[in-house]
Amino acid sequence: MTRPRILTGDTPSGRLHLGHLVGSLENRVRLQDDHECFFLIANVHAFTTRADRPDDIRRDTIEVVRDYLAVGIDPARSTLVLQSEIRAIPELTFLLAMLLPFARVMRNPTLKAELADKQLEQHSFGFPLYTVGQCADILAFRADLVPVGEDQAATIEMCREVARRFERVYGGAVFPVPEVLLGRVARLAGTDGVHKMSKSLGNAIFLSDGRAEIHRKMRGLYTGRQSATDPGDPDSALMQYARAFVADPDRVRELTDGYVRGEIGDGALKAEVADAIDAVVAPMRERRAAYDGPRGEAAILELLQEHARHAGAVADETLARVKEAMRLDLRTARTEERPRSALATS
Ligand code: ATP
Ligand code: MG
Repeated sequence: MTRPRILTGDTPSGRLHLGHLVGSLENRVRLQDDHECFFLIANVHAFTTRADRPDDIRRDTIEVVRDYLAVGIDPARSTLVLQSEIRAIPELTFLLAMLLPFARVMRNPTLKAELADKQLEQHSFGFPLYTVGQCADILAFRADLVPVGEDQAATIEMCREVARRFERVYGGAVFPVPEVLLGRVARLAGTDGVHKMSKSLGNAIFLSDGRAEIHRKMRGLYTGRQSATDPGDPDSALMQYARAFVADPDRVRELTDGYVRGEIGDGALKAEVADAIDAVVAPMRERRAAYDGPRGEAAILELLQEHARHAGAVADETLARVKEAMRLDLRTARTEERPRSALATS
């Protein structure tokens, strides 16, 4: 029996953080056994915001893989995909771009939120193209399921549209229409208390942060509270973290009640939540240690190379099927009528 396929990934624009954990990584670790998993490191897409920092992208590519291994992604069961090694992806990106109205791409809420959050008034042509590239990443692996955070849901919706449109226009039954799978916290707030936690916004607690660093960041967390006896806001980032990371549900209820009634101050709650976060990431530190230093890096490079061979073969097969359906493979001629507009919306 074939297992349903998963593709999801991360941009090496920094190390992975708590938002990745609750938004996507936990689902990945959980689904590794009964799904065929592909986890992609989007090192090409990292150039959309860091074109002038290739060394940082290289470093963070390796750090993201360290984070994967630390969190429990198992390279014996799941395939790591280094985007730059998969030749079929840029080719598919170009072909799929023809099935997406320009205005549709620019209207994508994922893209619009990123342009606003990252203050990218000046962005390259490649920046909006990366959302089309993300459709190509997913479809190259003919994924059935895409575990992501809420911020990416609109892009997955665009990917579903492209998959359907490809079938309508060219046929060939190449792509499943992929489903979104949101995490147990679909959008974790950042320590600024405003934006989503994000690698690029300086508001993240990283999975690789030490205990002291976690406490320091938690002390700086913005809650908007004026004094320790004011009623606390149950919707603040601090309370969201308490619900997400304090293990005992009875304690979460106590903390919520006390905080809302103004009986628990920010400082005490922050310290307790910082301890809870530290307890969640502590086991990761031990697993990460196995991949520390130059020897760890060498092992990671080898792993990436080996996995890229398998991933490349899967994506090549997709591309062959795409080219056949599009009659780009000139050996295939089909006579059936398919008078469909490539940009029609239904
Ligand atoms: P960048 O700031 O460079 O965009 P990022 O922190 O948004 O980085 P991505 O690599 O863009 O991270 O996202 C990787 C995955 O993690 C996506 O599935 C995304 O939806 C999810 N994710 C990112 N941030 C959060 C968050 N704060 N809460 C829940 N899920 C998140
Ligand atoms: Mg992002």
